Amino acid sequence: MSPDYRPMWKGLGLDLEAHDALLGVLGPLYEQTFTKQHNRPAGMAYFDFVMSEVHGLRIKELMDAKEAGRKVVGTYCTYVPEEIVLALDGVMVGLCAGAEFATAEAEKFLPRNTCALIKGAFGFALARVCPYLTASDVVVGENTCDGKKKGYEIFKDLVPRLYVMDLPQTKSPAGRALMRDEFKKFAAYLEELTGRKLTIEAFKKGIAMVNAKRAVMHRLAKLRAADPAPISGLDGLLMNQIYFYDDPARFTQSVNKICDELEQRIARREGVAPKGTPRILISGCPMAVPNWKLPSIIEKTGAIIVGEESCVGERGTQALTADTGRTVDELLDAVVDRYLKIDCAIFTPNESRVEHVLQMARSLNAQGVIHYGLLFCSPYQVEAGPVERRLEKEGLPTLRIDTDYGQEDVGQIQTRVEAFVERLRG
Ligand code: SF4
Ligand code: SF4
Repeated sequence: MSPDYRPMWKGLGLDLEAHDALLGVLGPLYEQTFTKQHNRPAGMAYFDFVMSEVHGLRIKELMDAKEAGRKVVGTYCTYVPEEIVLALDGVMVGLCAGAEFATAEAEKFLPRNTCALIKGAFGFALARVCPYLTASDVVVGENTCDGKKKGYEIFKDLVPRLYVMDLPQTKSPAGRALMRDEFKKFAAYLEELTGRKLTIEAFKKGIAMVNAKRAVMHRLAKLRAADPAPISGLDGLLMNQIYFYDDPARFTQSVNKICDELEQRIARREGVAPKGTPRILISGCPMAVPNWKLPSIIEKTGAIIVGEESCVGERGTQALTADTGRTVDELLDAVVDRYLKIDCAIFTPNESRVEHVLQMARSLNAQGVIHYGLLFCSPYQVEAGPVERRLEKEGLPTLRIDTDYGQEDVGQIQTRVEAFVERLRG
């Protein structure tokens, strides 16, 4: 039985009643979505445990780290360089909210036509239900899409310390220079916050830790190419979500363990669905915990998701950072080069994204792509059209689903996904 975390939550300023309500929804939703899946790998028990303690033990670990003098850095975007945070002995945690909470309150600050991710982040802060947010010594906002950029101007009054990082919108030399300058400023800010110096040794250690975490996700992705699929898309997504919360070394070790198990499954030609099950790649907006709506619908129709072209997925983990620099400046250049490769739709042009989707679909043996756009997310919803046309031209059937966190459209999405899966079955 878990210890009583209520004093810790209270100390973190949570509204205990509202927090109970959140956990009361999250627990059963998790049970219903994950634990009843067919033939799950035994190693997923670790991730079940992490989820059962996501507001408990992991928060206690963060509090212990703070007690030991480490700083907790909360983030909303995959452009925040974790290498630098780890190099300065910080702990980085993802804060993105994948559920509706206190929407009416959030809409007092934001227009109704704001994407669910931003509204969720505001709702979680206003309702005081996120211990990651209140445990953070600093929250990093990044000027990516307009919703976030303008939202942070308001959000700064809702959290004790918000650091806003500017980001370029093009990958031109000027764009690169801006990113480098911003990363440098961020490093200096963290040096001051942590009282530590960004040395070459520490920087290399930070790079190695994040690279290891990314490399294990690459290993997992390769194994998901097998038919029959050795693991469900829901479990694949779950690991990509926990990537943002867990201790990096422990996470790497746990995913490696699952990969060992998956290799054995593949050798035995064993899977979570029969060979020949329609295979789908998801592409689009990030799906933060507990946003499992669309993947649940897809896998309930009898298809299998084999990969996620998403920030909570391969867009976020795709490239490693070179560690060959001989000075802090050279290592910083390597970090900038790596982050500049992320093909978020806030960049223009963003042609490399569709190439990445195609490459993923081919290497994962996907027969179709479901493009997931959050309603009111202009960057991804606008980009969905050209992406769809290009994929269809390349012979990859594509379905565009635009939705939010609500349940009202579940039946309608189900019908469209079923028809799409029929198309894939030929
Ligand atoms: S979609 Fe773009 S803005 Fe959103 S987390 Fe990913 S990189 Fe950041
Ligand atoms: S989903 Fe779209 S609109 Fe929402 S925060 Fe991400 S990029 Fe911005």
